[in-house]
Amino acid sequence: MLNIALFGPPGAGKGTQSRQLVDRFNLCYISTGDLLRKELAADSELGKQAKDIIASGNLVSDEIIVQILEKTITENPHANGFLFDGFPRTTIQAYILEGLMIKLNSELDCLINLEIPDEESVRRLLERGKTSGRSDDNETVIRNRLKEYHDKTLPVLDFYAQKGVRFDVDGSGSIEDVQHEVSRIAASQYTKRPVSIVVFGYPGSGRGSQAQALAKKFGLELVATGKMLEAEMDAGTEMGKQISTLYENGELVPDEIVIPLIEKKIVDSEDARGFIFKGFPRTLVQSYILDGLLMKHGASISKILEIEVPMLQLMERLAKRSRTETCMPYDTSTEKIVRRLQDHETKTIPVIEKYEQQHGVLKIDGTGNFDDVFEACAQEVQRLFQVGNLK
Ligand code: AMP
Repeated sequence: MLNIALFGPPGAGKGTQSRQLVDRFNLCYISTGDLLRKELAADSELGKQAKDIIASGNLVSDEIIVQILEKTITENPHANGFLFDGFPRTTIQAYILEGLMIKLNSELDCLINLEIPDEESVRRLLERGKTSGRSDDNETVIRNRLKEYHDKTLPVLDFYAQKGVRFDVDGSGSIEDVQHEVSRIAASQYTKRPVSIVVFGYPGSGRGSQAQALAKKFGLELVATGKMLEAEMDAGTEMGKQISTLYENGELVPDEIVIPLIEKKIVDSEDARGFIFKGFPRTLVQSYILDGLLMKHGASISKILEIEVPMLQLMERLAKRSRTETCMPYDTSTEKIVRRLQDHETKTIPVIEKYEQQHGVLKIDGTGNFDDVFEACAQEVQRLFQVGNLK
């Protein structure tokens, strides 16, 4: 995800610069001004409440802003990120944005501050007023909007300076020059944050081999809990012995064992381009743990894939595997296999359903051969690293 706020006085060029950023990074555009004008045009209850305030150039209440933002954000669960134009406009709204980001399990990556002198702002808005049809593009209201900006909005800059995500850009240059600088900042923030991909699928769906191949192709760290547990068993540690017993009974290994191993992996790979999780989270509890772990390490879930294979085919694949050398201790009998499939059904499917609501889950047809399934998965992962060209 890439979340950006474009900041600056009225007329600084936020709308113009937004267009290219939205295209280049495939973001969901949220202009609180545009959203309010839509409510006005629809003569909705919110529109009626905001109408006179907007016409006078004052700021509308936070209650109204939260309602329109919440609606737009929840309508776009699959967004690659959000671009906020005209929000946050007060320090209170900066806190509101923090709360919204937590809900998305994400953070604001940068606040880009377009600076122009007041007189340039007035000149540009009067020019725009000739064609915009906006009731607030006249000199008296423009001056009041600038006053609101100085009194209430400018202090927001300190909030983001303290967070280390404030970037100032001289907005009085040509559109192209500003565009170049704004885009450079966004791209640098985009590549800074590690991506995290979760791969789901029933046992036998090929999730393990696909996750491994994806990690290799994209230079991601594979966090495969099964493999990490096996390493403990191979090392013959006390923990390894406990795990062996649980494995032989086809039971899940408790979180007290799994979580420290995952955290160690994340810490040891702090410089990684990102992570790909396989076999975790397996339960709703683990999904909350993963959110917490990622947040602690400045990351969040970027994409979720689910490899789908019909039950009959899964049973065939697992039965076949139990007769080969790659047979796992938990695959040695039909009873164990059925237990694992049931575990997935009862414990992991609710996690996928939760993610479906929260972030969206990309379903991949896993019935084809390895290469075809890999191609479909890789295409989805590739999108995370794609940055379009400047128009
Ligand atoms: P804009 O299109 O961003 O220039 O916004 C036009 C008008 O909408 C502003 O002068 C405010 O009255 C109102 N408005 C837009 N965004 C906000 C916000 N985040 N908080 C309060 N009022 C806003």
